[in-house]
Amino acid sequence: MAPRKHRLSYYFKNLEHLYVHWPFCPYKCNFCDFVAIASHESFMQQYHESLCKEIQDFKDLYDAQAPLKTLYIGGGTPSTYPLPLILDMFAILKETISFDESTEVTLEVNPGTVEQGALEVWKSIGINRLSIGVQSLKDTVLQGLNRHQTKIDVINLLQKTEPLFENVSVDFIVGLPGVSAEEWKAMILQAMTWPIKHISVYFLMVHEKTPLYFKIKQKSVVLPPDDEIVDLYYWTVDVLEQHGFHRYELSNFAKKGFESKHNTAYWERKGYKGFGLGACSFNGQYRFQNNKNLRNYFQAVLDKNDLIHDVEEITPAQISMEKIMLGLRQAQGINIADVIQDFSLPQQQHFKERADWLEAKGFVRQEAGRLFLTPQGFILENEVAVNLFPE
Ligand code: SF4
Repeated sequence: MAPRKHRLSYYFKNLEHLYVHWPFCPYKCNFCDFVAIASHESFMQQYHESLCKEIQDFKDLYDAQAPLKTLYIGGGTPSTYPLPLILDMFAILKETISFDESTEVTLEVNPGTVEQGALEVWKSIGINRLSIGVQSLKDTVLQGLNRHQTKIDVINLLQKTEPLFENVSVDFIVGLPGVSAEEWKAMILQAMTWPIKHISVYFLMVHEKTPLYFKIKQKSVVLPPDDEIVDLYYWTVDVLEQHGFHRYELSNFAKKGFESKHNTAYWERKGYKGFGLGACSFNGQYRFQNNKNLRNYFQAVLDKNDLIHDVEEITPAQISMEKIMLGLRQAQGINIADVIQDFSLPQQQHFKERADWLEAKGFVRQEAGRLFLTPQGFILENEVAVNLFPE
């Protein structure tokens, strides 16, 4: 492993993508395994101060040659970042890091958490994209997930965002317990009437040790059957395409020109720096994660200690696998020559044979040196990827 100093100085050259984490949530959804903490509002001020210090301390390590391409404020629930504090944090960011009106600046927003005047403040500090966590429009389902928001909260928020923000995205989860196929279709059709430019449709992930996981284990919650979820996904893809939202990634659909630049950078394995509790950074060779424990994070910032808690060196084999996995998820597919360039000759041969076999089965298509999933293959992305991995 490279010495720490070397890693840090290598890492921060030509930084184009930045992530800032706000971990506080007003509640904890029972499917969530993010670095998110509920009922800790009394720590917001201290967290803000630590976050700002972490950003300021970064100045010496930052070698900007051009403004950032993307800045993403995620969480947690960043729409609960108190307005005077987010103003302060942005002032410090602007002193430290170069970004301008060409930078895509996204804020994650949860309906029901937006205080009066917040949208105007967010716009004034340069936020130009909102990512709204809708997940479902069925109030009883949201309550069952311990997500304290309602359909009315969503509608009210969208009415307020429309005159101020052009670039608005909404997230939905397909496969939530308690949502029938007809209800799902009605939600998506309703979303097609909204002033949005981007929609993400995620499959429900049941993470171990979450309340939802235990409820499913105890059979007090029953998930819809897999084939119903797959049918709904395909139905959704068709409806979104008919309304001008093209699928540019397995779960992401956008009007032309409104694809998420930040997420695309992740999928293309571009480097990024993350600030805040548990925030991840990546330099193409190493993945770093900041301390995930709030008290330890505070102490490390205070002591000017290394905030990085975990470092993972990405091996050449992992790089190839990541390129396959992430490339397959995107409509642009994978660049075959790029993926197999570090393979041995037998591995290259294996890849080509598997690609031809998958194409004969109708799961992938090969064209002009790229390999793409077919509509049939999209839903089997993991299995297709595993078939293409080197032996
Ligand atoms: S609002 Fe988001 S981050 Fe917070 S608990 Fe719910 S899913 Fe997790």
